[in-house]
Amino acid sequence: MSEVLVLVDHVDGAVRKPTYELLTIAKRLGEPSAVFIGGADKADAAVEAVKKFGAEKVYVVDDAEIKGYLVAPKAEALEQIVAQTGADGPAAILISSNAEGKEIAGRLSIKLESGLITDAVDVQAGPVTTQSVFAGNFTVQAKVTKGTPIITVKPNAAAPEEAAGAGTVENVSVTVSDSAKKAQIVASQPRESSGRPELTEAAIVVSGGRGTGGNFEPVENFADSLGAAVGASRAAVDSGWKPHAFQIGQTGKTVSPQLYVAAGISGAIQHRAGMQTSKTIVAINKDEEAPIFELVDFGVVGDLHTVLPAATGEVTKRKG
Ligand code: FAD
Repeated sequence: MSEVLVLVDHVDGAVRKPTYELLTIAKRLGEPSAVFIGGADKADAAVEAVKKFGAEKVYVVDDAEIKGYLVAPKAEALEQIVAQTGADGPAAILISSNAEGKEIAGRLSIKLESGLITDAVDVQAGPVTTQSVFAGNFTVQAKVTKGTPIITVKPNAAAPEEAAGAGTVENVSVTVSDSAKKAQIVASQPRESSGRPELTEAAIVVSGGRGTGGNFEPVENFADSLGAAVGASRAAVDSGWKPHAFQIGQTGKTVSPQLYVAAGISGAIQHRAGMQTSKTIVAINKDEEAPIFELVDFGVVGDLHTVLPAATGEVTKRKG
């Protein structure tokens, strides 16, 4: 069975959930091999983590020469690993669909002269991908027709499935060219943690819009009762109620959680573009004609300032 390379998305060796989703998808396509680019002292923990989700092999690249730079050296490292996978190369390369992942994928596709598909919300044998395009107005299936399929996959595209893999480590030393070192990181600060999950990775997202009137407390309390991330419509962001990092939609973030709750959001096409691939959609809106109700699995016609506290109370009660 051909190898399927999965680039491990991690912070200082702590593997992030989308990697487990990619490994789960990789099993549908061939034999999962994880690629860890990071500190040598962090590799053991990462190897143990990816083994539990089916990685048969783990390519470990010590990032001593890589970490001071932006993405170009990572694309070179992947290119060199692909060259080690045999004459036919891997069956596919899966990368998380975030800003860094997409840039690595773009650079790699040029180096390998291979087709690239970004923002897949599903990948099945073939590999055949599913994407939501044109502001969410169309769902398309696509296939790479040249070279090694390189696919960036959005978080929550698959439920991670544990499966023991051999996790055989292959230490790889890579050569980084001078041209890949043209953009250097001069300083970095970790983002202040809100204590909530990252918006684009969260399994549940609760969003508020203009209907909150600027009071996000009911939205945040409900989100916290569910362990969810908080999002916002552009109207809420433009009003200065939430920073742009919270915005969901065409000019904000795209989310695809298991559950999306829209409170006081009308459902404009530009907002839908960022959330309509969510698996289950719930809306609370006091206008029963609001367009968001065309798209929901479950809708509540009512005032969010009443409905959300009641729902929060009920969730808290049931959690005991
Ligand atoms: P409104 O459309 O004003 O809706 C508020 C809703 O709240 C109404 O349906 C109302 O009935 C309901 N409501 C009011 N009070 C209550 C209450 N007490 N309880 C319950 N419901 C209540 N928008 C985005 O969200 N994301 C984007 O990325 C984005 N990009 C855009 C890009 C372009 C180029 C353009 C032109 C627009 C973009 N927009 C985007 C804006 C978009 O068109 C809408 O204007 C915006 O989504 C509206 O936000 P809203 O639903 O919060 O506000």
